[in-house]
Order: sequence, then C-alpha cells, then structure tokens
Amino acid sequence: MANAFFKIPTVSNEPILSYAPGSPEKLEVKKVLKQLKSKTTDIPMVIGGKRVKTKETVSIHPPHELSHTLGQFHKGNATHVKKAIDAALKAKPAWEAMPWEDRAAIFLKAADLLSGPYRARMNAATMLCQSKNIFQAEVDCVAEYCDFLRFNAKFAEEIYAQQPPVSPKGIWNRLDYRPLEGFIFAISPFNFTSIAGNLSCAPALMGNTVVWKPAETQIYSAIVIMDLLEEAGLPPGVINLIYVDGPEAGDVIFNHKEFAGLHFTGSTGVFQSLWNTISKNLPKYRSYPRIVGETGGKDFVIAHKSADAKIVATALVRGAFEYQGQKCSAASRAYIPKSLWKKVQKFMLADLDSMTMGTTEDFRNFINAVIDKKSYENITKYIKQAKKDPKVEIIAGGEFSKSEGYFIEPTVIVAQDPKYRTMCEEIFGPVLTIHVYPDAQFEKTLDLVDSTSPYALTGAIFAKERSVINLANEKLKNAAGNYYINDKPTGAVVGQQPFGGARASGTNDKAGSILNLLRWVSPRTIKENFNPPSDYRYAFLAEE
Ligand code: NAD
Repeated sequence: MANAFFKIPTVSNEPILSYAPGSPEKLEVKKVLKQLKSKTTDIPMVIGGKRVKTKETVSIHPPHELSHTLGQFHKGNATHVKKAIDAALKAKPAWEAMPWEDRAAIFLKAADLLSGPYRARMNAATMLCQSKNIFQAEVDCVAEYCDFLRFNAKFAEEIYAQQPPVSPKGIWNRLDYRPLEGFIFAISPFNFTSIAGNLSCAPALMGNTVVWKPAETQIYSAIVIMDLLEEAGLPPGVINLIYVDGPEAGDVIFNHKEFAGLHFTGSTGVFQSLWNTISKNLPKYRSYPRIVGETGGKDFVIAHKSADAKIVATALVRGAFEYQGQKCSAASRAYIPKSLWKKVQKFMLADLDSMTMGTTEDFRNFINAVIDKKSYENITKYIKQAKKDPKVEIIAGGEFSKSEGYFIEPTVIVAQDPKYRTMCEEIFGPVLTIHVYPDAQFEKTLDLVDSTSPYALTGAIFAKERSVINLANEKLKNAAGNYYINDKPTGAVVGQQPFGGARASGTNDKAGSILNLLRWVSPRTIKENFNPPSDYRYAFLAEE
C-alpha cells in the first residue's frame, strides 16, 4: 500500500467564528486569556524534538500592556543554529522517504486540531503577544493557518499527480518530485501567526526539513504552532524552532554547504541583504539555493468619480487601520477625486470617531497597540514630521502614547504633493495618506499610482463605470500582485486569492498556492525503456 496514490479529501475554507456576546467561542477564548495571563510561560527552543533551554532569557510583554509579563523565551546562539541544522539533516532521509500521503495526513490533522482543541489557545496567544483583536486573530492564526495546511495538502496531491503526458509504447516517462537536497531556512515576520506556520510547513510538506527562526515578538504564539505540529505527529527534527538573532543565525546558515533554500517573509531591506549574502556565498553550496521572499508594500486605493463615497470610506477605514495597519497589504496611500472627497472624508471621520483603542482582552476595541518600541518610534517619527510640515494636514488621529502600551491613533494625512514622503515609503502602522486629485486627471493619476513607489503588493480601484475599470486594470497591470476591484486591498483568502507581489514586494511565489509548493521540489525525470535497442545502427545507414 505504501506507494498507492490516495486522493485527499475535498478541502474548504475554515469558517470564521463570530465571537458575538454570549457565544461559546467567546466564553472559551476569554477563559484561556485569563489562564495565560495568570501565569508566566517558559518558552524553550525546539531542536530535534528536544526542548532546549539556555541561560539567557528574554521576557515577553503584551504590546498593549507593557507592565504585564507573559513569560520568557530562551535565547540561543550560533551553537544552537548548528544543532538545528544537524537535526534537520538527520531527520531528512526518513522524512522524505515517508509516503507523501502520510506527510499530508500530519498537516491535515494539525488543521483539525487547530480548528478544534487548539483554537482558543492559538487565538489567545496571538491576541496577547501580537496585540490582535479577536477577529484579527481568528482570521489569521486559525482560519488562514487551517487553510494553508489543508489547501497545501491538496496542491501537493496535484503536483505529484502531474506527470509527462506522453509515454510512447515500450517507454514509461515519470517525474519524481524530490525535495531539495539539504535543509530549508524559514524566517518569519511578527505580523501573521499563519505566515510563521506556513513558511516552515509548506517546504516540510514537500519532504524538506527546516530550521525556522520566527520574529522575537511572535515567539509566544510560535511555540503553540510547535505544540500543535508535535501533537499532530510531526517527527522530531523535521521543523526546528530557534530563537537566535537574525545576523548570527544567518552567519552559520548562509555558510553551510547544505543550505538549500530560504523561505522568507519580512521587510524588503532585510530580504535584499540576505539575497546579497547568499549570492556572495554561491560557490559554497551544493545547489543553487531557492530564494522565496514576500516583502514590503505601499498599497494603494484609487477611487474614480463614479465610485460610491460610503463604500470607498469603509474600504479605507478597514483596509488601512485593521490590525493597526500592520498588514503588508494595508492601504496606506489613497487617491480620491475632488468631487467625492468631502463625502468620503465625512464618512471616514465618523467611522474613526466611533472606534476605541485599548487592550485585546476588551473585545470592544477595534484598535490595539503596535508591535514594539522600534515600530512605535518609526511610525511616530512620520507623524511628528507631518505635524510640522505646512504642505500636509493631519485630519484624524495624530496622537500617540507609550505609557501603558504602544498606542498610536489611526491617523489620516492629506498631502497636496502626491510624492510626499508618507505617500511613497512603507510605514507599517496606522497611518493613511490621501491625495485629492482633480476629477479630470484620472488617467494621469493612474500613472502616478504606478510610478510612486518601488513596491507592487496590493491595490484597489473603486468605480462604477466599466470602461474606467478596464483602463485601470490595464494601466495598473504591474502595480500590484493582488489587485482588487471595488473591494479593500486586504484580506486575501487561501484557495481564493493567492497572495504575493512583484517589484520590491517579493518574488511573487504566491503563498498558499501550487506555485509556492513548486519552489520546494527539484523534479527528477525518469525514462524507463521496456525494450531498449541492442544495435547502434539506425535504419538510414542501410545500403540502398
Ligand atoms: P523584519 O524584516 O524586521 O523581520 C522579518 C524577519 O527577519 C524576523 O524574523 C527578523 O528577526 C528577521 N531578520 C531581521 N534581520 C535579519 C538578518 N540580518 N538576518 C536574518 N534574519 C533577519 O519584518 P517584520 O517587522 O517582522 O515584518 C514586517 C515586514 O514584513 C513589513 O515590511 C511587511 O510588509 C512585510 N510582510 C510582507 C508580507 C508579504 O506577504 N509580502 C507579509 C507579512 C509581512
């Protein structure tokens, strides 16, 4: 039975629960939040299936309640990186030899555990350590992570089934989808627990073994991922979780002969520096490493005068400020026609006025804290500068405080200059900049949207007129990898809108799709001849 080709069950998107007052899911998550806050959690690294503690610990605090301590993680060094590589290489032969259906079954079981008994714990950990409200946590660490696990298993089945279409009589042509030779390095960002899970699990599903380094600010939920995978039956050493500073880890990994691939999500600057290092070290490696990176964005919304002002305002408020604008897809620059602006402004200001900001444990808060001090300083630097600049006006928000947590009000800047700094640079926080353009200059404004930023991640056009939508589709063809018509530019769903951008936004390998999984295999073509020739002479050599 080991080599039989089983079909995996049909997959569908994980339902998003409502967490309405009195709902069982709300009561459960509230209970777990309390439990987690009533103790301190000690978080070891996980190398070769062993829990590894060190003498150096770093304490963890919710970004919205800095006086509270959630626990501490054990920080590692270069020795731990070497051990994690050794563990990954040791686990590799058995893992890649395991039938793919068994590997897929482990990840499918993980999805079911996450949808059931792990749901509240994963949500509570993400709410506390990354300051996500319950809805943002649910769509990320439960719904999207379940979808990654289930849809990837289905996509893997499609890949393995994809075989050469022709095998002439007496020949059998086959494609053997080998994992890459060596180990994969997964580096994940703070802002999505699901991305952290996917960066390590996607290559592992295809038979690779992984060293995974999460962002320090996500470690409290990263360990829940490891617990979940272990309970689902992931063998020791397949995914090794280390807490080591990026450059120190990189120094060991990018000098290792068996380094086979980088699965990265994070900022453009870091990705470019890693790519540089890898290319300098190329002669050291056994193979050309696969480099997959999803990076920054400066995501746009452009409205045409035919658009509905209330719909545009809603898309801007949700698209720019959910999770404090800390989504790579968050709307951060908008282009609104003069005739629509007054109405859009009125609706937006009313919405922003009704939002409250505070802890994630209080479910009434739409806005929570930004992730850490570094982010807080960076975001507020832009706001302080805008306050001083006579050419721009702050029409909403603009206040911030770090006395209890890293709180920044949702801030809207109106800029006359469409190339003003906050229209061009990724801020990664709750700051939206709006440029109001003359109605007659719609087409010129499309060119401006396309040329203003080096990124090309997400973007949205709002219009009723079809010819206008068509014009925008054409002009903005390369401005976004995820492009929306009459919808906000955030909230891509696995299996529906595969996610990723080009230009400075990444390699556009579309996380949670067949395209991403193809990067983690190195196919071997096998031709088997049942009737091989025994004479070198071809027919044409015979005498007339
Ligand atoms: P970041 O670049 O600061 O960190 C990402 C990861 O890289 C972390 O694990 C960090 O520790 C590690 N790192 C940093 N320097 C390193 C080095 N020299 N060597 C090795 N590793 C290193 O990003 P972040 O603040 O965690 O996340 C926000 C960024 O991620 C934003 O730019 C956002 O647009 C981007 N992002 C993109 C996507 C996407 O799909 N395109 C999704 C989420 C986030």
